[in-house]
Amino acid sequence: MNPIEIYPATVLRRKAAPVGKMNSEIRQVIERMTEVMYQADGVGLAAPQIGDSRQIIVVDVGEGPFTLINPEIVEIDSEEVSIEEGCLSLPEIHVNIQRPGAVRIRGLDAEGKAVEKTLDGMSARAVQHEIDHLRGVLIIDHASSLQKTLLKSRLKKFLE
Ligand SMILES: [Zn+2]
Repeated sequence: MNPIEIYPATVLRRKAAPVGKMNSEIRQVIERMTEVMYQADGVGLAAPQIGDSRQIIVVDVGEGPFTLINPEIVEIDSEEVSIEEGCLSLPEIHVNIQRPGAVRIRGLDAEGKAVEKTLDGMSARAVQHEIDHLRGVLIIDHASSLQKTLLKSRLKKFLE
């Protein structure tokens, strides 16, 4: 069974709640998310994608996995780059999305310790994509109106 929530699952549109205290249950969720991400060959996963509406993301763009709990973007680079993104919750859909090339993020790591760091390249991209999930935002929301028209027929199959 594929544990990943697929569009238009309502949990994907919900705003995720902040995590309170770190405990073993949260650690288990992180472990499970990391497993699911690797199984699906993804570079990132947000908790709502496994049906858990809490602010947890895991990312591994090939540089080792990291977790962010209650992540916040505190600064963005003024330079934006356009990259084609996919999403495990929207199989076979790809959207060109313009986003800041670098971001400074703040949150808690898998141990519950406060972290703040600047990311660029693929990890900046993946983190912004996953933080979108925590706000109920999906790649299709970033599509231009032309792209949306082109995507319409492909999105229809998810609604059947
Ligand atoms: Zn996604």
